[in-house]
Amino acid sequence: MTKLIIIGAGITGLTLARELIKSGQNNSLCILEKSRGLGGRLATRRGESTRFDHGIPEITPAELALLGISRGDFPTEGATSIAKHMARDLPVEKNTRAIELRSRGSHWEVITECGKSIIGETIILTAPLPQALELLKKSAIAYAHELETIHYEMAIVALLEGSGLPTVHAITRNPDSDFLSIVNEHEKGISSQPAWTLTFSPEWSRTRFEWSEEDIRDAALSALKRKWPSFAGSIEIKKWRYSKPIGHFPGSFFKVASKPDLYLAGDAFCKKPEETNFSNAIRSALELSSLLQNK
Ligand SMILES: Cc1cc2nc3c(=O)[nH]c(=O)nc-3n(C[C@H](O)[C@H](O)[C@H](O)COP(=O)(O)OP(=O)(O)OC[C@H]3O[C@@H](n4cnc5c(N)ncnc54)[C@H](O)[C@@H]3O)c2cc1C
Repeated sequence: MTKLIIIGAGITGLTLARELIKSGQNNSLCILEKSRGLGGRLATRRGESTRFDHGIPEITPAELALLGISRGDFPTEGATSIAKHMARDLPVEKNTRAIELRSRGSHWEVITECGKSIIGETIILTAPLPQALELLKKSAIAYAHELETIHYEMAIVALLEGSGLPTVHAITRNPDSDFLSIVNEHEKGISSQPAWTLTFSPEWSRTRFEWSEEDIRDAALSALKRKWPSFAGSIEIKKWRYSKPIGHFPGSFFKVASKPDLYLAGDAFCKKPEETNFSNAIRSALELSSLLQNK
C-alpha cells in the first residue's frame, strides 16, 4: 500500500516528495498530477525558438537556495525546467486528476478521473486552496470554514512576439496600472528569439476573466498599444484563475483529518508574512516533511 499520496506536482508537492525521499525514510509515495506537464504555476510555454514563463516570472537566488539547488544544476529553459529537475526519479503520475477522497477506516482511497482507485495512509493536498476545498466538499469531508477566507488573484497573461516592446531590462515590475510585469524572455536568457511575457494587473484580469478568448485578446492588444504604440507582432493569451493568494492562513500547513491523516499545504499557508508566495510554498513543504519524517 502507498504510504503517502501527494496531490499536485507543483513546487509544494515536488519539494515535499524530494525531502521525504532524501531523508532516507522508506516512504512509499506517489504524486498525482492532473496536467500533462509538471510544475503547476511554474509554467513555461515553448515555441519553436521562443520560450515564455507565463506563471511565476522569475525565481530569485534566495528561493533557489531554499530549494537547495543552484542555477548551474539544470538547463535554463524556463521555470518548468526547475520542476523537471526536481521531479527526476520521483513517482509522478501525470494526467491523473483526483476527483474524490474516501475515508476507508485506517486509510484513504483516492478516486481518479479515469476511474482508478489508489489506497494510501496519508493524503497531502497541494492544489491552490480554493481548488483543494472544492475537492474536500465534493468528498463530503468537513473542514474549518476560516480556510474559505483565503482568496486568490486572477491573472491574464499575454505572450508576445514581434517588435516595439521594452528591450533593456529582463523584468520590469508595474510598468503601468494595467500591468503587473513585463518580462523580456530573451534578455532573461530563456528564449533564443525575442519574446515577452506581459502579466496584467489583478483588477484588469478579474474584470475580463470570463470574457471570450477573442474579446480578451482584443482588450489586451488595445491596452498594450496604449502603453507601447509601436508594438507589431503576435499575441497569445493564458489565464490563471488562481495565481497568488490574497492574504495567508497562519501556520505552514493545515491538518484537516487524523487517522487517516489529511493535510493541506502550499502557498496559502504562511508563518512569515514578509516572504514571497513561492517561498511560502517551499517552506510549507519543508515543514510538513519534517513533521512526517518524525512520525
Ligand atoms: C501569473 C503568475 C505570477 C506569479 N508571480 C509570482 C511572483 O512574482 N512571486 C511569487 O512568489 N509567486 C508568484 N506566483 C505564485 C507562485 O507561482 C506560486 O506561489 C507557486 O508556484 C505555488 O506552487 P504550489 O505547488 O503550491 O501550487 P501549484 O503550482 O498550483 O501546484 C498545484 C498542482 O496541483 C495540481 N492539481 C490541482 N488539483 C488537482 C487534482 N484534483 N488532482 C491532481 N492534481 C491537481 C495542479 O495541476 C498543479 O500542478 C505567480 C503565479 C502566477 C500564476
